Amino acid sequence: MMRDFSSDEGIMSFGGMKVTEIADRFGTPCYVTDEQRVRENYRNVYNAFSQYMDTEIHYACKANTNLAILSILRQEGSGIDAVSIGEVKTCLKAGIPKEKIMYTGVNVSDQELKEVVESGVMINLDSLSELERLARIKTGIPVSFRVTPGVGSGHGDKVITGNKGAKFGVPKERIVEAYLRAQDLGFIPTGIHAHIGSGGQSVEPFIDEASVLAEIINQLSDAGMDLEFVDIGGGIGVPYKPNEEEMDLQEMACEVTDVFQQETDVKKIILEPGRYIICDATILLTRCVDVKDAVTKKYIGVDAGFNTLIRPAMYDSFHYIQNGSRFGKAGVARYDIAGPICETGDYLGHDRVLPDTQEGDVMVVYNAGAYGFSMSSNYNSRPLCAEVLVNNGEAELIRERETVEEQWRHQIVPGRLQD
Ligand SMILES: *Cc1c(COP(=O)(O)O)cnc(C)c1O
Repeated sequence: MMRDFSSDEGIMSFGGMKVTEIADRFGTPCYVTDEQRVRENYRNVYNAFSQYMDTEIHYACKANTNLAILSILRQEGSGIDAVSIGEVKTCLKAGIPKEKIMYTGVNVSDQELKEVVESGVMINLDSLSELERLARIKTGIPVSFRVTPGVGSGHGDKVITGNKGAKFGVPKERIVEAYLRAQDLGFIPTGIHAHIGSGGQSVEPFIDEASVLAEIINQLSDAGMDLEFVDIGGGIGVPYKPNEEEMDLQEMACEVTDVFQQETDVKKIILEPGRYIICDATILLTRCVDVKDAVTKKYIGVDAGFNTLIRPAMYDSFHYIQNGSRFGKAGVARYDIAGPICETGDYLGHDRVLPDTQEGDVMVVYNAGAYGFSMSSNYNSRPLCAEVLVNNGEAELIRERETVEEQWRHQIVPGRLQD
């Protein structure tokens, strides 16, 4: 079931605080994360797998890279899946030990590869080209490869990554050759990795993925390479609708580890959940600033658009939305919830049955933690919004709202245009 919240005198309560209080204090739009929920989610996935195998969780930080959130995960003992040098540096800044950071890039430039090598984090290679180019920078270091397992899963076409012909990874038909070449070049093959996609709800693709990985691990073992870890990537889905089923983590852990334990000698499993860790730990607060009866439709106009949360506009993703100021009141009309961006595609939700909503009400967008703030932009010259952390009834700012002036910081007007 989707995570839902309780009411405090008719106002939605989140992390022990009324959402209206948070909105009044920090302004809107703002993303609000419940620290305890981040910790619970981390422990759920870690505990599910660690009962069967030596387990390391690498939080896929592209879901949200706020330093405070990374610090919570550092305290929990999490490692990191980083997909850019920017993420690597941000996680080092948050104090994550470099041994626990794995860099998995795609279409990586030599410049970036060099910086990643200098940072000292683990490198997971995406292609034979990247292998040859890495060898020119440094060899003798541990490496793993991302394999394209021919199994895909995800909440939409744009986020399926493991299918045959994908731009990611070394095709499974070429993977043994890649490891042999790595060995020839003086690297130490230590693991294998795959990531099938993001937001899938069923266990089956993970079992198929595990079978493909197990077969490769054995082929490599026959060729004299015994790997230390298998990394099955991320992609654990989260319910975005009230009655949607949760992914059965216990079943996933049991079935997937069973494949490796029955079929291989590999001892350690790594998982890279991004969405699962942060998605339902965060809500987006956005204020109703305008209400409109457009004859065929009613609109709730809010101050967050696709500059703040792009998932509905980009993926047609569904985010559950409630009126936090009138929480638990019966719905009386159907509304579209739309933002301030000058495009028709700028909406947060269509056809939602909600209580009579007035200007000033605080609307709450659920499940906003994963790929929410991290995909936000300055489109329409709107400043990036604030991020807030709540912990057992206390709220703290973890990212200041950007100012308009800050958007001019890197722009240069040539002298001849300044008269
Ligand atoms: C994005 C990504 C993940 C995380 O996916 P989620 O669906 O957020 O769990 C894990 N591994 C890699 C390599 C990724 O690119």
